[in-house]
Amino acid sequence: MGRHRTRGRAVDPRLTEEQEAFAASVREFAREHVEPGVVERDRAGTWDWDVWRKVAGFGLAGLPIPDAYGGSGADVLTTGLALEALAYGGRDAGLNLSLGAHLTIGAMPIALHGTEEQKQRWLPRMASGETVGAFAITEPEAGSDTAGMKTRAEQHGDTWVLNGSKTFITNGELAEVVTVIARTDPDAPAGQAFTAFLVEADTPGFEVAKQLKKLGNRTSPTNELAFTDVEVHESQILGEVGTALWKVGFECFDWERTCMIASAVGGMERDLEESVRYAQEREAFGKPIGRFGAIQHKLAQMRIRLEAARLLQRQAAWMKDHGIEHQMQAAIAKAYIGEAAVASALDGVQLHGGWGYIDEFHVERSLRDAKLAAIGGGTTEIQELIISRTLLGG
Ligand SMILES: Cc1cc2nc3c(=O)[nH]c(=O)nc-3n(C[C@H](O)[C@H](O)[C@H](O)COP(=O)(O)OP(=O)(O)OC[C@H]3O[C@@H](n4cnc5c(N)ncnc54)[C@H](O)[C@@H]3O)c2cc1C
Repeated sequence: MGRHRTRGRAVDPRLTEEQEAFAASVREFAREHVEPGVVERDRAGTWDWDVWRKVAGFGLAGLPIPDAYGGSGADVLTTGLALEALAYGGRDAGLNLSLGAHLTIGAMPIALHGTEEQKQRWLPRMASGETVGAFAITEPEAGSDTAGMKTRAEQHGDTWVLNGSKTFITNGELAEVVTVIARTDPDAPAGQAFTAFLVEADTPGFEVAKQLKKLGNRTSPTNELAFTDVEVHESQILGEVGTALWKVGFECFDWERTCMIASAVGGMERDLEESVRYAQEREAFGKPIGRFGAIQHKLAQMRIRLEAARLLQRQAAWMKDHGIEHQMQAAIAKAYIGEAAVASALDGVQLHGGWGYIDEFHVERSLRDAKLAAIGGGTTEIQELIISRTLLGG
């Protein structure tokens, strides 16, 4: 469908019966195969290949990857539904982070910008879960300000030589291939200065320099990557030389904001459900705490945020699926959900009292996990910048 401009107000939030049934099946699968052991995995801070293989075996690793390359060709809305359902049923936000990154910024850039050879080489392996996708744009001194990246790629005949480092890279230590954005023209403006390279993990000079310890999402590995004279053949360029920031990079951020953010919505729903149950069961002063106005207020606010978050994410996903200009709606969804997820997780912890602070209760982990939604894939402040620029025409 062609892209066209519209104010996009007429969004139908209903799902088809197939979508509802699919989401229900993912929730059930996740409760059975992902949720068990999540507290221990979080405590240990470990990635679990067995859980990943189950997720891949259930067909989630290839969702939006085109059928021709072993995926399911799912649209953005359906892929988001799966992430939401997995987060709800599995309560393993780290797994959701790794799967979300694998799909949206690992596989999709290759599906959208890859040559036939690149797609044949990597997409079937990603769709089956044999390898996990990763995308590296952030650097120690350049995150929001992507144009400040210093990693360099210099051309020597048909080979490019990369030097520099990347940080906060989800799945960095798992991936067989990482899409790395590097500066290929030191003087050109940002739109013409950066190129994406498919760098294979066994290339000499490529090093997983560090695994970073995190506040939350601990079951997902986050790495620093170092590149020292890494030689990459020109056939490994993804897209066109010079255009990576606006094309590959923009597409990645767009997928993160319209689709990957759905994971936070699933977490919010499960926390609300657990909080309602706790409010009904826990007694203080001779009655269930749910009879206190202060607790009722928290539950109501959690529900309001959940509904708004879900509608905003689905609106943005639906608009992307229909080729409707949605920069503003994607930024609104990301900004709102990032903050709402934290606010609701805080309410969930408070409502659980002392138990909310103990890691046997999932809300403790939820609070630590939720904060990432306001940081990764573009911080809340950056989303606000996009929204205000669109409003002001700047
Ligand atoms: C767990 C995790 C996983 C991640 N996964 C990946 C990944 O797979 N690949 C990848 O490339 N990156 C990844 N990131 C990086 C992430 O996208 C960045 O951390 C994020 O974009 C913010 O960049 P920064 O950390 O450099 O913060 P900075 O850009 O230094 O921002 C610091 C603060 O300043 C604010 N700020 C910056 N500029 C402005 C401005 N113009 N106006 C107002 N406020 C501003 C920010 O909002 C923030 O509050 C990940 C990060 C984390 C924590």
